[in-house]
Amino acid sequence: MNRAQELLTHTWGYQAFRGPQAEIIEHTLAGGDSLVLMPTGGGKSLCYQIPAIVGEGMGVIVSPLIALMQDQVEALELLGVSAAYLNSSLSSSQQSAVMNAASTGKLQMLYIAPERLIQNSTLNWLSQLKLSLIAIDEAHCVSQWGHDFRSDYLSLHVLADIFPSVPRIALTATADDRTRDEIIDRLQLSKPRRFVSSFDRPNIRYTVQAKIDAKRQLLQFLQDHREEAGIIYCMSRKKVESTAEWLCGRGFTAIPYHAGLNAETRSHNQQRFLREEHVIVVATIAFGMGIDKPDVRFVAHMDLPKSIEAYYQETGRAGRDGEHADAWMVYGLQDVVRLRQMTEESSAAEEHKRSERHKLDGLLGWCEITNCRRGALLEYFGDQQEQACGNCDTCLNPPETWDATQAAQKLLSCVYRTGQRFGAGHVIDVLRGKQSNKVTQFNHAELSTFGIGEDLDDQQWRSIIRQLLVQGYLHNQVDRYGALVLTEQSRALLRGEIQLSLRRELKLKPERKTKPAKRAVAEHRQELWDALRECRKRLSEEHGVPPYVIFHDATLMEMMEYMPNGPVQLLALNGVGDAKLERYGDEFLAVIRQFA
Ligand code: ADP
Ligand code: ZN
Repeated sequence: MNRAQELLTHTWGYQAFRGPQAEIIEHTLAGGDSLVLMPTGGGKSLCYQIPAIVGEGMGVIVSPLIALMQDQVEALELLGVSAAYLNSSLSSSQQSAVMNAASTGKLQMLYIAPERLIQNSTLNWLSQLKLSLIAIDEAHCVSQWGHDFRSDYLSLHVLADIFPSVPRIALTATADDRTRDEIIDRLQLSKPRRFVSSFDRPNIRYTVQAKIDAKRQLLQFLQDHREEAGIIYCMSRKKVESTAEWLCGRGFTAIPYHAGLNAETRSHNQQRFLREEHVIVVATIAFGMGIDKPDVRFVAHMDLPKSIEAYYQETGRAGRDGEHADAWMVYGLQDVVRLRQMTEESSAAEEHKRSERHKLDGLLGWCEITNCRRGALLEYFGDQQEQACGNCDTCLNPPETWDATQAAQKLLSCVYRTGQRFGAGHVIDVLRGKQSNKVTQFNHAELSTFGIGEDLDDQQWRSIIRQLLVQGYLHNQVDRYGALVLTEQSRALLRGEIQLSLRRELKLKPERKTKPAKRAVAEHRQELWDALRECRKRLSEEHGVPPYVIFHDATLMEMMEYMPNGPVQLLALNGVGDAKLERYGDEFLAVIRQFA
């Protein structure tokens, strides 16, 4: 462990191990297998990288993400670690060079794609080498129930037989109880220790708003994220394109990403996101897997994802560096109707549908909660939270609730009187006494419920309908174009047997909301900040790596705070190790000196 500590400080430039890292490293060095569950950004890589170097022989890391391998290897090389990767992106002569380096003991770490590893020739070759460990990253890919299933992962159990004395470590950021067991079972880990970290991402602020005017809301949100990198998720390709274009027209650097673009454009856009600063990617969920950019400052959802798991995974891409980040979402009645419809109309087996319905309901319920949003999120994953977090929308602006019993009764009667055949739009017109074509056509002005809801506006009625749908007092009938119908539960409400309390929607404010507490760069320090980033950008271009691989924002921030005036002080900062000091130290010190 002394050697491990030394690597941490000298090679990585970090002061202390984080959370369970030290324990995991110690356990691996002692030869034990383990299952590591840590949220994104928790620091999984060090858990295998350090013992891979400390242990005798080469560490093998199985990863399904080809793009990520290259990034990791580049970053390791900058730290002075000898690492390489083997996957289909290499030419055969490049592959021989890597294998040669490994065979002659020149590599400390080898990243390898699963489909490559499980080939007999690769296994035979590796079995002749001394290995310090085998790490299986994204281990949840072995689960057939999960959304990232990779059939090649199923064959990884052969490692247990071929390398019985090499410690194996399986790592993932998403795995419920069942998946954890499944990973251990399918990989045949031997008496593994389980290291389960909290799912909490305290630096991410969760905010969910009712969709009123989505674009305007997005713009308001982005006011606080000018000059920052972020991801905006949209449901459809068309919406991705139009949103990106619209944002460009508003002065943002926004680029689209979806499966309909050709591979070249996709890869180009992804590279721009990684290598340039302040790029916003507008994407379908096709984007994100394997995006390891640490300084993504926000993830915005313009449409609802399918489940809390999906939401957690997508928003988890924000703030890997531990700095303040925002997870922001708007959702509306249309989302609820559309997603329910998609579930019902899918050709999946009934059991699968039931599970999807259940998951969607979980997410909808979460959107509507009035207590700490983080607490509820953690609870969903089986974590407990001691007290309200103070860093989510419901903590910062506690939503008001109101007694909506009477309003709900009016609405339910109106649904009943109009024959349970219409969608929200028409029902609201009748309630508000609007003389629309449909009202005339169906003679609905004659109904007793015509005009009884004039006291509330369109948005308020939509909010009520949405909450009634979520709480099960209304149902939308899929085979009748989403017509609203009553449910068993509605009766008790109509008969006045229960009181209903609903969440009051926050009004869309015309003015700018207050700035969130984030990495505050004081005005007068702005010049130094810009100069440091400029220096990083220049070096990143020279070395052909993304800026964050040179130094994270957090390290630049420490430079501003401590104003180091020599190599020794620079080395004391988080993120500055020996190799980086030697490579870039002088350049950054020169910049700082100008401002001292
Ligand atoms: P994960 O793979 O779990 O998503 P990473 O291994 O990429 O997370 O680590 C997330 C970030 O945290 C990285 O930028 C990494 O350099 C940083 N990090 C990891 N361990 C430490 C530590 N002990 N001290 C400081 N920073 C750390
Ligand atoms: Zn909270």
